[in-house]
Order: sequence, then structure tokens, then C-alpha cells
Amino acid sequence: MATDADPPPEPSRYSYGPRVIADMSARAFRFGEGRLSGAVSIVLGIGSLFGVLCFRYPEYLTTPELREVYDPEVIRLILKASMWTALVLGLFAFARGKRRRTAAVGLVAVALAWVLGGYGIEAPNAVRRTPVFAGVDWMLLDLLGSAILFIFIEKILPKYPEQVVLRPEWQMDLLYFGLNHILIALFLLVGNGFAPLAFGWATNDQLQAWMQSQPLWVQVPILILLADLVQYWVHRIFHEVPALWKFHAVHHCTEHMDWLAGSRTHLFQTIADRSLVMVPLYLLGPSLDALNFYVAIAAFQAVFVHANFGLKFGPLKYLIVTPQFHHWHHAKDDPAIDTNYAVHTPLWDLLFGSYHLPGDHWPKHYGTVSPLPKTFFGQFFYPFRRKPEAESEAPVEPGE
Ligand SMILES: [Zn+2]
Repeated sequence: MATDADPPPEPSRYSYGPRVIADMSARAFRFGEGRLSGAVSIVLGIGSLFGVLCFRYPEYLTTPELREVYDPEVIRLILKASMWTALVLGLFAFARGKRRRTAAVGLVAVALAWVLGGYGIEAPNAVRRTPVFAGVDWMLLDLLGSAILFIFIEKILPKYPEQVVLRPEWQMDLLYFGLNHILIALFLLVGNGFAPLAFGWATNDQLQAWMQSQPLWVQVPILILLADLVQYWVHRIFHEVPALWKFHAVHHCTEHMDWLAGSRTHLFQTIADRSLVMVPLYLLGPSLDALNFYVAIAAFQAVFVHANFGLKFGPLKYLIVTPQFHHWHHAKDDPAIDTNYAVHTPLWDLLFGSYHLPGDHWPKHYGTVSPLPKTFFGQFFYPFRRKPEAESEAPVEPGE
């Protein structure tokens, strides 16, 4: 969003061109240095510690629906592989002397995981259901699955080959990934309870019966279109109302786009988005299969559109939101400010006049026009500050 203080966009003076990207060669992977080993060790070490805690306290930390489908032996095998990898790579990184502190944190975490029972720990036979749980298991599995899939596709066909996996602020986005997953589960009741509470009066049995009688290939596109219509306007309002923009600016302040960048979302926005997108789904009352299908598409696309992925989609780019389309939404280049709000299909942007997809061009700069604080708490409190530092005016001279 452009603020009053910003100069008005001047699309006519803007010229498309390649992105100006900072040199990351110093961060690039070099075999044997131990920097990548340190990073892998800290992520897997902390992940393993959380994994063991999930075995110890499943009623508070794991998701009831997921508990029903787990094969404990497979989970144990993943935990074993992750603990040994964290240990071996942590020792290697520590010995090499690069990222010693990172490696040490990884090693301490994995040692704690062993002390608390390690991968030999038994899960209780019966787990009582608690009203509130943290969904740590879902966070860990989603992180593992997303990292494997998206780092692979970003390496196969990157838009920016010079952007490394451990690019600046990856730790910050990983923190957002973890916290948002855990807090979404904690606030599940708020998020999913909002629609029935606020729109219970508006449900229509005939509409829901009709919806459920339709085949999947009819239900899913209807869900995609209507959920996207709601998300389009929620998203647009978050851009156009200054007080709300300060929350949404957190999502936009990342200057490096990849699969992890999309996780950076202010907690309040995460809850608002989740609550509001439930409304059309709740009113339509689709079959469980259709709902699950939609949720899987939405979860994949939310990560995918932020990815450093340069595949050309041909005419499909007019039908589905692609990384190129959403990267333009994250641009701070004049012609793209406040454009491309949709998350599933560009149709709503075409219809409401906010579509920006100039041929094969990609943005030159990502981020916000006014810079945000660089720390997690700085970003958390940014929307509540009366006059954020970044936007404050020059101090008034005494006597004026
Ligand atoms: Zn946005």
C-alpha cells in the first residue's frame, strides 16, 4: 500500500527490467565449510526435540485427526533419521568452526531430545482429547514435506538461480512458519467457530443439499471461486485501510521471495484470514471430500505462489495464480502497488481492475515502500505503534 507520504505511482516512467539482487555468493554452499551443516543441525535438532515432546505429551501437542492416521513406526524412523543427522552434522559444523553457535544450539537440542526419551520413546496407548492443542506434529510434518518438495523444485527451475536457500532472514521466516502453524491450531476454535457463530442464520439447507449432490469437479471449482472472491476483498481491504495495512505490511516486508517467505504473516492476520475464508465454505456446505480437496489445493498454492520458481505457465497463467502473478503482488515497483490480490485465480483481479501481469517480466524490487522493523517483536508491535518510526516525520524544531 502506498501511504499519503509516498509519491503517487507513475507507471509511465517505470521501465521493466531484471531484478536488482544483492550478491549472495558469500552465503553460497561450499562443500566442507560446515555452514549448511550447522543450519541443518539446528533445524533438525529443534525439530527432533519437538518430535520427542509430541510423543511425551500428545494430548497437548498433537492434532487429534492426525493421531488417528499415524503409523508410529514410520514417525519413529523419521525421528531417528533426523536426530542422527542433527548430531553428525552438528559435530561436523562445530569442528569446522563455521556457525559454531548455530551448531551448538542444534547439538544441545538433540541432546535434550535424547535425554527426554529419544526415538525409543513409547507413545501412550490411549490419548485423551483436550479442548486446546498446539498442532506441533502438523507443523513438523508440513515443514519437512514442504522443505523437501519446494527446495527441490526451486533448485530444478529457479527464477533467481543466484538466490541461495539460506538467503537473508530465512531464520525469521522459519520462526513465522513454526509460530503460525502452532497458533493456528491453538486458535482453531476461534477460526472455525467464527463462521457458524456469525453466519449461522444465513445457511440454507436446500443450497447445501444441492452442493453436496454435485460431483467433485463441480464442487471444487465453486469453492475455489467463492473462497477466492472473499479472500480477494479481505486482502484488498487489508491493503486499502491504513490501520489494517500495518498488519498486512508484515507479510509484505520480506525482500526475498521463496517457499518460506509466504509464512511471514502477522498472527492477527493469520486468524482473521482463517476465520473469514471459512465463511463461504461454511455457507456452501460442500461434501467432506470436496472440502478436503479444496484445503489441499489452498495449502499448496499458498506456499507455491511465493516460491522462487521460474516455470512459464503459458495461457494457464490467466487461469491460476502463479508465482509470477503473486511475486508482482509483493513488488514495491510503482505499477504493481496494490495489484494482484487473488490467491487462486486471477479472474477476480481482471474483473475488479487490479490485474498486473506484464508479459514475461518479473519485479525489480520486493518489499514495502516504507521499511518495517527487522525483528520479530518489532514486526509484531508495528501495527500498534501510533506513528511507526519508519513513517515518522522530521523532529519539530523548538519554538515552532
Ligand atoms: Zn498483500
